[in-house]
Parts: sequence; C-alpha cells; structure tokens
Amino acid sequence: MSSAANNPSNSTAATGLNPGLLRSLFPVLHQQVKGQPLAYLDNAATTQTPLPVQQAMLDFEQHHRANIHRGVHLLSQRATDAFDAARATLKAFVGASSQQELVFTTGTTEALNMVAQGLWLGGSGHAWLRPGDEIIVSGLEHHANLIPWQHAARMTGAKLRILLPDAQGQVHLADLQALISDKTRVFAITAAANATGERPPYEAMLTLAKQAGALTVLDAAQAVGHTMPALADLDCDFCAFSGHKMYGPMGTGALVGQRAALERLYPLRLGGDMVEWVEYDSAGYAAVPTRLEGGTPNVTGAVGLAAAADFIEHIGRAHIDAHIAQLRAQAVAGLQALEGLTLYAPHASHAALVSFVVDDVHPHDIGTLLDERGIAVRTGHHCAEPLHNHLGKGPTTRASFALYNTEDEVRRLIDGVAHALQVMR
Ligand code: PMP
Repeated sequence: MSSAANNPSNSTAATGLNPGLLRSLFPVLHQQVKGQPLAYLDNAATTQTPLPVQQAMLDFEQHHRANIHRGVHLLSQRATDAFDAARATLKAFVGASSQQELVFTTGTTEALNMVAQGLWLGGSGHAWLRPGDEIIVSGLEHHANLIPWQHAARMTGAKLRILLPDAQGQVHLADLQALISDKTRVFAITAAANATGERPPYEAMLTLAKQAGALTVLDAAQAVGHTMPALADLDCDFCAFSGHKMYGPMGTGALVGQRAALERLYPLRLGGDMVEWVEYDSAGYAAVPTRLEGGTPNVTGAVGLAAAADFIEHIGRAHIDAHIAQLRAQAVAGLQALEGLTLYAPHASHAALVSFVVDDVHPHDIGTLLDERGIAVRTGHHCAEPLHNHLGKGPTTRASFALYNTEDEVRRLIDGVAHALQVMR
C-alpha cells in the first residue's frame, strides 16, 4: 500500500485522509448501482476490504496453506508461524496487556457466546454464575450481547438486570451505581451502540463493575476500527470484536481476555487441537488460548484480519476517527434540517453512524428510494429490538461511515433522504 494514502500533502480533507486515493484500494466501491456510482454507507453492518487485506489472504492461500500445529512439514510450520504472527499483531493492535490473551473466533457473536456460555458450561463445580447471582447488561446492546446473557441466566438461575437508557438513549453511571451490588457477577456493555451510535461512558462503568467484583465484558464491534483506548487501560476482563467491521474478512474476529478470566471459561468447542492428552474416558485441556480454539481455525482469515489491523495502523486510528467524525457532523447537520426527521444520539462523540426516524415514513421506503440512487444504507431494528421498543420510535434508517467515504456521498445521502420525504409524504 502506498503511504501516500495518508500523506497530508495529497489530502482533500482537513483530517489528513485522502479518500480518493484510499478508494483506489477498495475495488468493490468502483461500481454503478442503478446507474449511479455506489455510495456504500452500510459500514456498521460490514466494511469493505482493501487490496492489502485481499492480497495477504491470497498470498497465504497460494504459498503457505496447510493445517497448523499438527505437521512437521515446512508448509505446516509456515502456516503455524503465520497464525502465531497474526495473533501477536492483533494483540498489539488492541493494546492488550501482558496478562491478556487473544482467542480467534468467527466474530463478536461467537466471542460473546464463548464468555456467556463458558461461565456455566463446566457444570456447578466450575460455574461462575449461580442461582441468585446477577448479570447486568446495558439496554443499548446488539442481540449478540443480550441473548447469550438471557440464556446464561436461564441456565444458572441468575437474574438478568438491564441498565436502561433514558429517553434520549443514554445510559448513566449513576444508574449503574444504583444497580450494582455484591450479587453482580457480570457486567456487559457495548463500546458504541450499533443501532443509535450512542457511546456510553463504558470506561468508568467497567471500572465500577470491576471494583464490585464482577467480570466485565466489552462489545467492541463498533469501536475497534476507529476509536478505542488500549485494552490494557480498561478494566475489561473480556473484549469481543469482528473482522468484517474493521476492513477484514467475514467470519473472523476475536475474544481478548485477561488470562485468568479466560481460564474460567469452559470451552464451547471440544475436540482436536484444544487438548494436552486424551484417553477414552477423559482428556486434559490445553492452556488458553488454545483450549478455546478447538478444531481447525480460519488461518487465512486470521492472516487477513492481521493485515486489516496493519492497514488501520498504517492509516492511523486518529485520522480515521477524525475523518468519520467530519462526515458524521455533515450528515447530522444536513439531516437535522429536514422537517419531521428525528436523529438518535446527534451529539454522540466518536460515532460512526447516523440513525433516524421520520414521521409517517417507513424506513424500508427510505432505504429502497436511496438504493434507487445507488446509496446503500440499512433499515430496521439493527438487531437491537428491545432498545427500539424501549425508545418507542420504531425501526430506523441508518447510514454508517468508513475511512473511504466522502463528503460528496454524504451530500447524496442528504439529498436522497430529502427526495424520499417529498415522494413519500
Ligand atoms: N455487537 C455489535 C455492537 C454489532 O454491531 C454487531 C454486528 N452488527 C455484533 C455485535 C455482531 O457481530 P457479528 O455478526 O460479526 O458476530
């Protein structure tokens, strides 16, 4: 990749990013949709992969592909080295401490299930959750950070308590203080809400929960690609993220955890590669992270995910964050000027998306009319149905931004929404 991609002298934006140059690294963006240039504004669902990520995976497939750990032959050793190197790259990328370890997963959903199920799967002798214990989950969560906790509560007799947001969709430290007690065993929260863009004060909340003796869980799916403190600076026992939301491959991701916390988890996947010894009636499990990675992992995906982390580091998270903030501010200003439109979390800091409802117009109609203009957005509940029900405004239209989006695309979004409102009213 050319380092000119973030060379301020080529910059068209005050943020130091040159989206035009960056876009040349994303072939998928260069196509017409319904006769218009594609404006891809569905990045909170999935970002696109740049050529360096595609190339890293192709290179692995063409030259090094073999199963890891089991072979003495050269290709297996190279594949093992590539997998280990990917783990090291990603640990550095998230700023893990020396006590933190990274487990490869298929994404955020699997990582969160690994935690929520792993805390009781081992049976009553091992279980972290017992009848009468409490699990606190924020009310901003994607279903992936709610349903596994509902299940864990059902299976263990623990009680699920929700840290409800106020009418503006904000959660407050004082409310968490009121909920937390010596019964709290788990606290789980998102670093950025995928449905509204709200950024909760998760740093202070994790610290509060940790001080109360709970295990703390952070869903970083919507933050890891552009904004997030180093994990070593957070009171976070477990952190989950997905590759496809950070310019990496689909079906990849990770669970990063304090080693001692990961050791509490009973593995979801029992079988090959996660054992030290096996007899017909018993087995000794390997140390973490291997113990939690049963079966053949997605080595090509891990290589691609590490290349995505390198790509982000090369551009610079601060540059990406500033560029996205600028686009979001433009979108917020333009959309707020439209009559009858209500934006969620207009003042959220570091948000990468705008989510809105319009009086008497269904979001699917807006999304369809935008698609007619080549503009890709997402409409619906964004896998956060309880939050939408709580806020009482129904499904939303969501436009979400990435480093390759441009001011022109945001202008097209605003014009497209204005046009949709004219047509639908
Ligand atoms: N949490 C959040 C905040 C998300 O935005 C998403 C994806 N929309 C997930 C979890 C689930 O991620 P995945 O589908 O990659 O497992």
